[in-house]
Parts: sequence; structure tokens; C-alpha cells
Amino acid sequence: MADGAPAPAARNVCFTMHGIGVSGGIAIGHAHLFHGMSTEVDHYEIPSGDVGREQRRYDRAVKEVREELEGLAESVRHSAASELAPFVNVHLMLLEDAAFTEAPREIIREQRCNAEWALRIQLDELTAQFVDIEDEYLREREADVRQVAERVLTALAGSKRRIAIKPTRADAEMVLIARDLSPADVILFREHPFAAFVTDMGGATSHTAIIARSLAIPAIVALHHSRTLIREDELVIIDGTQGVLIVNPGRAVLAEYRLRQNQARLEKEKLKRLKSAPTATLDGTAVQLHANIELPSDLEAVRAAGAAGIGLFRSEFLFMNRRDLPDEDEQYEAYRSVVEGMKGKPVTIRTLDLGADKALDGAEHDTENPALGLRAIRYCLAEPQIFNTQLRAILRASRHGKAMILIPMLSSHAELTQAMSAVERAKEELKAEGEKFDAFVPVGGMIEIPAAAIALPMFIRRLDFLSIGTNDLIQYTLAIDRADDAVAHLYDPLHPAVLSLIASVIRTAHQHEKPVAVCGEMAGDADLTRLLLGLGLRHFSMHPANVLEVKQRVLTTSLPDIAPLVARVMKSDEPERILALLEKLNG
Ligand code: PEP
Ligand code: MG
Repeated sequence: MADGAPAPAARNVCFTMHGIGVSGGIAIGHAHLFHGMSTEVDHYEIPSGDVGREQRRYDRAVKEVREELEGLAESVRHSAASELAPFVNVHLMLLEDAAFTEAPREIIREQRCNAEWALRIQLDELTAQFVDIEDEYLREREADVRQVAERVLTALAGSKRRIAIKPTRADAEMVLIARDLSPADVILFREHPFAAFVTDMGGATSHTAIIARSLAIPAIVALHHSRTLIREDELVIIDGTQGVLIVNPGRAVLAEYRLRQNQARLEKEKLKRLKSAPTATLDGTAVQLHANIELPSDLEAVRAAGAAGIGLFRSEFLFMNRRDLPDEDEQYEAYRSVVEGMKGKPVTIRTLDLGADKALDGAEHDTENPALGLRAIRYCLAEPQIFNTQLRAILRASRHGKAMILIPMLSSHAELTQAMSAVERAKEELKAEGEKFDAFVPVGGMIEIPAAAIALPMFIRRLDFLSIGTNDLIQYTLAIDRADDAVAHLYDPLHPAVLSLIASVIRTAHQHEKPVAVCGEMAGDADLTRLLLGLGLRHFSMHPANVLEVKQRVLTTSLPDIAPLVARVMKSDEPERILALLEKLNG
């Protein structure tokens, strides 16, 4: 069926792709492409009256893939990877073949089944034909047929596709190449410590990227075409700092990256010496560096980094990759293990921040704008039983050390009132049951919606502490979906509006003598440490992997010296000027 297709050049062509580096470091490994088709395809019967509609759905998916491939062919033609154009053309020709355009439509009609299932049947039929082919070139086309079918399946599934992990090599030698990964998928990597991963979609502060950083594995997102251009098992280099992916590197390039990899390892080793040094600026101002965690198993990394506490425990990850909800006892055990494990150091447990890209299994929502929907505290107030169970579990754990409760996404007075009443109710219940807990457990709020930052006095008097969630604050201030790669370039922590909101929250918190931290990704970016210190921030919370690098920056900062430069940054409204000043600040 691929008759007439131009013969692509022999593979192991070296080419480079650029995306957004979301987790630094260098990894060298073999590509593992997610297929995940067999188990993912639903099979259901459709009423005979719906056959036409299902066929049209299939046609639309084929059309979408055709447009994607045409766009890809065009961009590849004018890029450094132009040798790959014939491969893309092969995919286009396969897609135009009746085997793809007609046969699945026939199967839908004959079997009255859904489009995905029809394509699956057709794919089985096509791949069966490859078994006896001796010609190596033709046999290689099987992978192309699969890739085209997978593209159509992805188009049929929209964004709801789930991916099964079926590794072929030892995990540490593999680099995962995926179209997209949900935070729940990435959290599973703890069981598969892959060398790195890349995705075609995603933004720099999507939760998927955040988890990659917390696992301290290099990662690149928004590569757009990696899934199509890279083949299973090809050797790849991932430079997660620069966002560069090199496929089939030559010997000299490989040697250069191995060298850089070793240098990075040595740097990391050196930083370990700072672990137990007190954190203070050159002029003697004390600074607190806390860690962000997703699961109790992150504690080891927190201890290794010498963090002074946990500034953000993203508790929703306890609820992912499972069909049931963790009950009160299970949650209590998880919180207790962290609180006890931190031996009296503070542990800030954020109440469930479900919604947007962090959905419960089987509860993916169909709303148009999930980031603006029933997320975080809004979700908890709509599900009082789930909220109550969690609050009781946190309160019970509070007697084993120093726990604090953090409420995400506060935006209104009423929400705070309801959240506070829910905490009080949980306390009363426990008291009535004779359960012990810390009656003075501090309750703080995340300041991550511009409304909360602007109208801070409305919240601050009723909260014990604040934590600025810069990831969402930037998303909502600049109206940029943090998970959408199409607008990722607009996501700007240095936007004057963002900086002025952060500065004002810190200032207001100081005026009210309330502790304030930053727990978004900005806190873990050593290039922003001095700027935040200059804005008055003394409490940072970040991935354990970033703590020592940020500490090094704190230890080499003199607050009086940076003050004039920070003031100039805050007066500037030109991006280039801000960047130049930042460079000076870090020089
Ligand atoms: C934030 O928004 O900055 C934050 C820390 O929370 P999350 O990234 O989990 O939304
Ligand atoms: Mg947030």
C-alpha cells in the first residue's frame, strides 16, 4: 500500500529539535515511544442510525491528522531536519491510502462499532500483512503504519488519551517520547526512573513539568513533532536546561555531552557541602528554604537537601492513579509519616488542589476552561465530605509534629469563611470523639489568583500565613493556560504586572506581620533568588533538587548591594531592560 512512496534516507540521520526545557540536566538514552493503543481503545456498539455520524467523526480525525502532517512536512522542509521530510511524506501517503480513508469507514458500517475500534481492527489486519515480508524497507513501513494509526486515534480521543507504560529496555537507559503526559502519568515515573522524558505538548509550569523537576530528571516539552520524527530505540541526548534534543548524535557530539554530564554531576556533588550550613545572606539576614513534595516518598530527597521544612505538600497526588479515594485513616498515615519524618520541622499540607490538569481517575471533566472551573478550594467546598475527611486526617496528624494547613486558590471572602468553618467543624468532631490534635494548627492561604493578591487585606487578617503560588498567579494574571504550549512563550515571571503583584503581597504581609512564602516555581529558580530577596522575601519553598543551588545564591548575596538594582527592575517596564538588570543582579 505504500507503493510510490519516496524511499526515505537510511535512518540514523542526526537531527536536532528545540522545545521548552522544563527540567534541567543532560540525559543520554534510547528513545521509547508510547504506543499504548491496545488497551486504550474502547469498543462499543452504535445504533444503526448513528453510523453516518461515526463515519464523519472518523473523517474529521483523518482530516485533522492530514493537516497536522502537512504542517509538519512544511516546517521540516525548512528546518535543519530536512532529511526527515520523506518520512513525513510517507505518513501522508499512507494516510491517503484507502486502507486508512475507506476501510475503517466500512468496518464502522458493517460492524456498527465506534471509530476507534474500527481503526484498531484495520490496523491488526494491516500489521498482519507485514509478518511475512522479507524486504527490509517494506518491513520498516509497519512502524509508519502504526504511527499514522496512532495519530488518528489520538485525534479521535481529543485530549483524553491515557498512556500505558510498556518499557522495552532498562528504565534508566530510556528516554520517554510522548505526545503528552498527564501529571498522574508522570508521577508513575517514580516506579520507572527513566533517564528523561520529552513531550510534544505542554507548557513550562504545567504540573507535568513540575513533577519532572521534582523527580530531578531532564525534560523538554512543546517539541511538537518528536513523536513523529523519532523512532523507537534511537539514541537521543536530552539537554533539559537548553530545551535541546539531539537524535542519533555523532561520536564527537556524544563525547561533548558526556563531558557536560560529568561536569554537572561534579557541580551537584560540590553543592552537597552546603547542606548543613545555616542559610543567611552575606549581611547576616536569615532565610528559610523549604521543600515542595507530592508524596511521602519524597521525604528522602527533602532530607538530602537539608530543607528547613516542607512549604508545600501537594496532597492531591495521594488521590491520583487509583479508582477509589483514600479514606481518613490512609490519609492520616500519609500525613503523619511526613510530619513525623520532619521531626518537628514545619510541614505545610495543602488541601486538595484537584481540577484543571489534575483530575481524579475517571473524572476528567468536559468543561471548556477547567483552570477557571471547579478547582482546588472550589472543588472541596462542593464536596464537603471529601474536604472534611482530609481536614480530619491532617488535624489528627498534627499531633505528631508541626503541621500547617494551606488552602489553595482563595478568591473570595465567602470561600475563606466556608473553609475556616470546615476546619472548625472538623476540630469539633475530633474533640467530641476524644481524638488528639494541635488545636492551634496554623491555617494559611495560597495567594495565586490576582483577586486575592489585590484585595489581600480582605484575607490576611483571618489567615495565619500566606504562600504565593506564582505558577497560578502568572497563569491568571496574564491569562495564559500554563499547560498550553501554544501560549507558553507568553508565560513570563518577569512581567511587570506579575512582579508588582508579588512585591505588593510581600509588602502587605510584612505590614500585617504575617509570614509569607513563595512556593511556585519562581522560588526554585536560582536566577530569581536575588530579585525575590530584594522584594523582601525571606521564605522560599521549592523542589528538593533546587534547594542547594538556591542556598548557594542566598549565601553569596548582600542585601544592601542588590537593593538599588532590584529597585531599578521594579521601575522598568521593558522586557530587555529587565533581563539585563537581572543579569547584572546575578553577576
Ligand atoms: C502555584 O500555583 O504556584 C503552586 C505552587 O501550586 P500548583 O503549581 O500546584 O498549582
Ligand atoms: Mg497553584
